[in-house]
Amino acid sequence: MNAADQEAIERATKRFGELIAGELERIERVRQDGTPKDYTKLDHITIGILPGDGIGPTIVGQAVRVLECLLADQIESGRVELRHIEGLTIERRAALGESLPQDVLDAALECDVLLKGPLTTPRPGDPYPNLVSANSLLRRGLDLFVGMRPIRMADKGIDWTFFRENLEGEYIWGDKGIQVNDDLAVDFKVCTLPGTERLARMALNYARANGKTTVTVITKANIVKHADGNFQQIICDVAEREYPDITVQTRLVDATAAKLMDPDFNKDFQVIVLPNLYGDIVTDIAAEHQGGLGSAASANLGSQHALFEAIHGTAPTLAEQGLSPWANPCSVIRAAGLLVGHIGFPERRAKLEQALDICCDTERRVVMGFGDGPTSTDFTDYLIETIQKLG
Ligand code: NAD
Repeated sequence: MNAADQEAIERATKRFGELIAGELERIERVRQDGTPKDYTKLDHITIGILPGDGIGPTIVGQAVRVLECLLADQIESGRVELRHIEGLTIERRAALGESLPQDVLDAALECDVLLKGPLTTPRPGDPYPNLVSANSLLRRGLDLFVGMRPIRMADKGIDWTFFRENLEGEYIWGDKGIQVNDDLAVDFKVCTLPGTERLARMALNYARANGKTTVTVITKANIVKHADGNFQQIICDVAEREYPDITVQTRLVDATAAKLMDPDFNKDFQVIVLPNLYGDIVTDIAAEHQGGLGSAASANLGSQHALFEAIHGTAPTLAEQGLSPWANPCSVIRAAGLLVGHIGFPERRAKLEQALDICCDTERRVVMGFGDGPTSTDFTDYLIETIQKLG
């Protein structure tokens, strides 16, 4: 080995040591994470509203109207407060050179739950500085360790809820990989015991609370022996110790991606738990089968905070052409429904889902049409009328 190689190894080893030290400190903080908040026992629940960029303010505005309808009695009594949070626009973030301004994070931390519009993450060629994703900073800042995404396809008997690990895996050190020398680049995948245990409990609790009997863990544990092997084993151990009423089965991620829609393969899928990267990919595949971007919402859950959003982005082309009034609000409205279920009103979420089925699939009396057809507001008027008719 030559001197340059030796020097490269020393640099890489030092960097690796720093990363491990930081991670061991984070593990201690995760261990201190308290019992998840029980929203049904709170006297006051603050819902923060972050409108987002592009089409965000339009569609989030419609979702707020739906929240006001579903939670009317709670808002009137003062138990639930809707609080608008300003200052998370790409223009302001670019001017400050900050992905997530501290005042916005502080305001978000004061809320129990958040409804968020999509946020621009600048790409090469965009007229903005190269800011890192505000979404991932919000997830980390609020310690939202679960990405939860429901997928329903009634005609196929599919009712799945994905629990994606949201902070660790390949993403936690995503921008901290080591370019050892010109020939060698190394990235990392992280799996921690306390991080995986709290994810397992969140998924297993959800299964139990929602009458589900099977949790499926998806990994590549046969190849990625430590990170994926531990992930799978930790979840099986938590289930065996604390949830003997729930069956845990394991599947490989490649087979899952290939056979997701095969009824023989997916017949026992109910609650599905995955590490971060596989979760990102498999939930997008599932959303695509369900009906594309407009049809899916997601929740980012932590012990003390939760954030709900559509899975699509800011639709810059629509926004630039002045077509935001016709953007489809269904995905962010579904996110608002998840929020309502999460804070203790699952029956109100179910009513919203039923109204969306009527308005989007069975009755379809108001169908949005770009330019001169019904707008996002017209569709939401129809949806609210339908919710009210359901009583
Ligand atoms: P996108 O989801 O914004 O757009 C993809 C396609 O779907 C486009 O044709 C768009 O017009 C259409 N579309 C999306 N939402 C729609 C809606 N509600 N109604 C009608 N059509 C809709 O994805 P992209 O173009 O890859 O990303 C644009 C920006 O959004 C980027 O800055 C990206 O970083 C950001 N983004 C943010 C989030 C988030 O905040 N969670 C998620 C994805 C993308």
